[in-house]
Amino acid sequence: MSFLSFSKGLVSAIGLTCVSSLSIAESAPAPVLEGDFPSCIARLQQQAIAGGVSKATSDSVLGTIQPLERILKYDRNQPEFVQTFTGYFSKRVNDWRVTKGREKLKLHRAFLQELTKQHGVPGHYLVSFWGLETNFGAYKGKIPTLRALTTMACDQRRSEYFSQELVQALLLLEREGLNPEQMVGSWAGAMGHTQFMPTAYIKYAIDGDGDGKVDLWNNEKDALASAANFVKNLGWQPGYRWGREVKLPDDFDYQLAGKTNAKPLSFWHQQGLTKVDGSAIGEGELMSSLLIPAGHKGSAFLIYPNFDVILRWNNSEYYGIAVGHLADRIAGAGGLSKPLPDLPKYTREQMKTFQENLNQQGFDVGKADGILGPATRVGVRAFQASKGLVADGYPTQETVDAAKGDNAD
Ligand code: CA
Repeated sequence: MSFLSFSKGLVSAIGLTCVSSLSIAESAPAPVLEGDFPSCIARLQQQAIAGGVSKATSDSVLGTIQPLERILKYDRNQPEFVQTFTGYFSKRVNDWRVTKGREKLKLHRAFLQELTKQHGVPGHYLVSFWGLETNFGAYKGKIPTLRALTTMACDQRRSEYFSQELVQALLLLEREGLNPEQMVGSWAGAMGHTQFMPTAYIKYAIDGDGDGKVDLWNNEKDALASAANFVKNLGWQPGYRWGREVKLPDDFDYQLAGKTNAKPLSFWHQQGLTKVDGSAIGEGELMSSLLIPAGHKGSAFLIYPNFDVILRWNNSEYYGIAVGHLADRIAGAGGLSKPLPDLPKYTREQMKTFQENLNQQGFDVGKADGILGPATRVGVRAFQASKGLVADGYPTQETVDAAKGDNAD
């Protein structure tokens, strides 16, 4: 699991509901947390002190903290519809973000060049992460971080992870000399311009402007330097791109697509793939996979090892393509070569039924969870090939109907 993998994109929605103080016990509804909140706090206090937090901080902060019940609603709220690439991408890589990103690249040009020298990550990627995480700082989230983490730590579902994050948040509070009120962010505890979880903040955030403080809430240079240091530590290979949009030959065998089918660049060259302008993609040994997130009517992307680095920030292929493509646009490139296709919208229930149908017919798509992940795409491609459909792994209406087989109603 990445440090920052919880529900991006909720930040802006949640940012509207501001809670101004840590101590609003008077009007707070009764918590529906599993078990007993006071005994959970006692356990967290023990864990905090064992983790190096002072007794004074443990008493003053955890001793008076109240849960935020609505956090659990956010955590349990599953969207009704399966996200399509078209829906995801069009909301995130838009003209506003490109224009604003170019302004920020220009504004911080000299500083970003320094960061690239030091950490090996080009500035346009750092600006792209920043734009996607918080609209360049416009939506950093206003949920009190310590209350959010405490609530999640006292809920059974992911108690261990959030308890650890809470201890790191308390250490951060002490290290940076913060007031609890200053620590705000997303409902899941991600903070500041780059939405770092506490562990990432403690380990990878650094001082960019040289004032001795590491302030991801208010200081853009600290945020950019921290992003550079984080991405370097996630394994970025200097001198390489994230990937690129490519053009496929007319007779392309779509069963070669998918993240798990990594091949040297020379293999894709032999298959007839080119850059979108028709020029050669290169013939080296760089391992690359082909993603076709919107089906064969949409754009195809060849992804390189640095794509996996982006996924360690947020484990979503859509996110990875958005970061990479937005970075290219910020650096001056044009848009995608093909318009985003109009894709059918499925509910999670419809997608689950589709997965169950495929599993029943012997095309393994893994657990029927309503999510169109890499495992599902593998099974869908095999099914499509068996039916003489374009095996692009995309559940077109035709594919979904065909999977109903004899059970069609
Ligand atoms: Ca600083």
